[in-house]
Amino acid sequence: MELRVLSLYPEQMNIYADRGNILFLQRRCEWRGIGFTWNGAGPGESVDPAAHDLFYIGGGQDRDQQLCAQDLIETKRDGLHQAAARGAVVLGVCGGYQLLGHSYILGADEIPGVGLLDVRTVREDGPRLIGNVAIEVTLDDDAAHVLAGFENHGGRTHLGAGQQPLGRVLKGYGNDGRSGYEGARSANTIGTYLHGPLLPKNVWFADWLIARALGIDPGELAPLDDAIERQTSLSARHAAGV
Ligand code: GLN
Repeated sequence: MELRVLSLYPEQMNIYADRGNILFLQRRCEWRGIGFTWNGAGPGESVDPAAHDLFYIGGGQDRDQQLCAQDLIETKRDGLHQAAARGAVVLGVCGGYQLLGHSYILGADEIPGVGLLDVRTVREDGPRLIGNVAIEVTLDDDAAHVLAGFENHGGRTHLGAGQQPLGRVLKGYGNDGRSGYEGARSANTIGTYLHGPLLPKNVWFADWLIARALGIDPGELAPLDDAIERQTSLSARHAAGV
């Protein structure tokens, strides 16, 4: 078994520990004897949908997103749609989440997204939504898990009528500070505003992503000693007040 990860715009869309999230996936694979490969796809580079199991796009400032958006549409959109259709995991964090939707409207500018998630983001008047956040995520087995992290976004994201959120806000703002929803999920395509060290803080989520990307049940992954990871998770939940 091998987990093949591709980061989109690792130089441009990379704030708040996006590299650390990838490293965490790598370590958890290596500790279990699962192979791991990582590649990056920057501007001008296309995406081979069959060559990777997990596609990651991290956070970015508005201006970084503006620089990447057109290239994303031109060189990577079709490959990403094909990858998602064959069940690969596509994970977008914060600015990356916004680019997985249809558009991000910033004043007079409309930044186009790849349309993998039925969401639209608008930079409305009002403060940035910043702080520790915790959400409740219900997975396919109906088990509810808490995902804890940190959010910092100016955009407010609105879900289309049939779009499933990733979770329900327990503490924090989530997609828009009003709806009570955070993130979006369509099969194995996931967007979330929770960044910072999202995966080290939520080891269950990291393993779930690994399993989905490998096409196996999370229960098939060999257990690891997660004492430190559990402490990290408790501390993130505590910071959010949950
Ligand atoms: N630039 C986007 C916003 O402010 C995303 C920010 C981020 O990735 N932290 O909404």
